[in-house]
Amino acid sequence: DAPASGKVCTRFDLEKETELRFEVEAGETAEAAEQVELELLTGMAEVFGSELNRNKKYVFGPGSKIAVFTWQGCSVNLFGKPEVAYVSKDTPMLLYLNTHAALEQMRKQAERDNERGPRVMVVGPTDVGKSTVCRLLLSYAVRVGRRPTLVELDVGQSGVSVPGTVSALCIERPADVEEGFSVQAPLVYHFGSTTPGTNIKLYNKLTSRLAEVFSQRCEVNRKASVGGCIINTCGWVKGSGYQALVHCASAFEVDVVLVLDHERLYNELKRDLPHFVRVVLLPKSGGVVERSKDCRRDARDEKIREYFYGFRGVSFYPFSFEVRFSDVRIYKIGAPSIPDSCLPLGMSQDDTQLKLVPVTPGRDLTYHVLSVSSAEDGEDGSRKSLVESPVCGFIVVTNVDTQTQVMKVLSPAPRPLPRHTLLIMDIRFMDMK
Ligand code: ATP
Repeated sequence: DAPASGKVCTRFDLEKETELRFEVEAGETAEAAEQVELELLTGMAEVFGSELNRNKKYVFGPGSKIAVFTWQGCSVNLFGKPEVAYVSKDTPMLLYLNTHAALEQMRKQAERDNERGPRVMVVGPTDVGKSTVCRLLLSYAVRVGRRPTLVELDVGQSGVSVPGTVSALCIERPADVEEGFSVQAPLVYHFGSTTPGTNIKLYNKLTSRLAEVFSQRCEVNRKASVGGCIINTCGWVKGSGYQALVHCASAFEVDVVLVLDHERLYNELKRDLPHFVRVVLLPKSGGVVERSKDCRRDARDEKIREYFYGFRGVSFYPFSFEVRFSDVRIYKIGAPSIPDSCLPLGMSQDDTQLKLVPVTPGRDLTYHVLSVSSAEDGEDGSRKSLVESPVCGFIVVTNVDTQTQVMKVLSPAPRPLPRHTLLIMDIRFMDMK
């Protein structure tokens, strides 16, 4: 069966409560790689909590790993050549749906008793489907009219902003089947690297800050309060990573912790969190695909590229212009740690990890991603205001000329920069476009 596009077409008839899983090969370049199209023919189906429309072709690009789940049974067509495609009867979707139902009960009760809705933290090692479970629960919640908040603490693979950030996003409609949640006006903070371990003090500080801002919003917005939040976390669950989870639970005063596929973590959290926190162990889906280091790095790169150049149908045209060194102040958050015995009297490691270290622009700044802080210019003396200020955007340094004291930057908006305080990330982006 060959459709007009000339692509091979395969039909799948799914029984109720089964899912079709498929992967699209990750191509070298976006242009050369295959895409796979999906069409629902009969019945009803959803992709990670978002319902499919019948007779509409959904396009999935290279590297996509998708599950089409049906509660009632359905038939679908796949056009193109997926790397793998198979139907599984063994999915934890019923457990995930029950979890949603329990959270919805808590929201109803919150509404009745004038309380706040559930604050949920999703934890587990890497590649257990944490982000997918968050997406599912958020989409189910908006589908029943709630306005939950997604709190993204995964600094390696952020679903909301570029890597190296933590953020919060109010969810107002289910995730788009192809593109995920519409990211409008997220609240984003600069962390600066892809693992919390590079500066755990800063990571915890930003977690607390997000919790504070979320709670303030809940005080003035009843729907946000009842909707509660779903917190996506990093896959680092040992040592300081574990401590960061405990810290997050306390900062957000979470009511529920969903532990994906990690019994020890489940037992530890049960032991260490207050007894009123419901800690629930959930299985991971057999469909979740393990991603290699390279795959993660590519995904991060892609996220930055999307920020500047747009995604799918929507193209952005970034600007390139020169910025004089004298017009900006660049800081790195956190000085290298030094032994306690060498610290000046009265100073602690905390201070060094949150310290603003001025960066003198040099060649080595090239390709670094810089966050443009929303802090008012001239506030640089105050550590608190800068570290805890949201960012208003990102630029990438594409060239540095130390002779003329000028650097060239890639920016989503034309010159001038909206603010002049920049925070440097460890993360680099080479613009191959
Ligand atoms: P990380 O450790 O990077 O935070 P994670 O635990 O959040 O990973 P996800 O990003 O949710 O994991 O899932 C990993 C990949 O598996 C994603 O590409 C997702 O689309 C895919 N995936 C999740 N569930 C399924 C499923 N049931 N069938 C097929 N693919 C799936």
